[in-house]
Amino acid sequence: MTTARNNVDLAEVAKFDALASRWWDPHGEFRALHEINPLRLDWIRQHVSLAGRKVVDIGCGGGILAEAMAAANAIVTGIDMAEGPLAVARLHKHESGVDVDYRHMTAEELAATEADTFDVVTCLEMLEHVPDPSQVIQSCAELVKPGGHVVFSTINRNPKSFAFAIVGAEYILKLLPAGTHEYEKFIRPSELESWARHAGLTLKDSIGMHYNPITKNYSLGQNLDVNYLMYFQRV
Ligand code: SAH
Repeated sequence: MTTARNNVDLAEVAKFDALASRWWDPHGEFRALHEINPLRLDWIRQHVSLAGRKVVDIGCGGGILAEAMAAANAIVTGIDMAEGPLAVARLHKHESGVDVDYRHMTAEELAATEADTFDVVTCLEMLEHVPDPSQVIQSCAELVKPGGHVVFSTINRNPKSFAFAIVGAEYILKLLPAGTHEYEKFIRPSELESWARHAGLTLKDSIGMHYNPITKNYSLGQNLDVNYLMYFQRV
């Protein structure tokens, strides 16, 4: 039976817990999240104005995106199942002088009490860490108001993404700690779109995120072969 709490891979959550204290080190294990954050925030803001909007960030970790959205004047809730990153996030917001309501819970639990209440739901770099991503997508669709906005990001599943996102990023370039990602959990854009459509979300835009090992820069582009973002609206 699936309950609101069991769509959680405890081994995955433990990996993030173990690295919690490193979350805000711009040169540490989460460097990649720091470097992509301005790009993904910009892309979100191209589609949705965040000021004054009620936003929930699912799988917020130490709060890199949640804080940036709060700094853009959104009213932000951040939820995660790892206690360590949440504790770091609760301290760090004071350093940054922004307000975020951090809660230890799953998307499924929040949807049980706060359905139809958020203008915007973001769930970035998290779906590839849960046992049943379609259920998280369903909960995100329940959390957002009719007409509201939902943004996901994850990693595509194909030989190129294995070569780039695992071999290249974790073992050769060491952009991420080894063992961060499991190939089997990667999600094709067609799978994400189909789960979202069944949950009542309509795909409005998608974009790829690319790393250039020569310039060491990230950029957005049309190719969805490896990392990508998708933007949906609830019907
Ligand atoms: N979204 C953040 C952090 C990504 S790391 C960002 O992009 O900056 C993935 C996060 O998902 C971790 O903090 C991990 O603890 C969290 N996570 C994994 N499984 C989860 C689940 N079932 N429910 C909520 N959070 C989860």
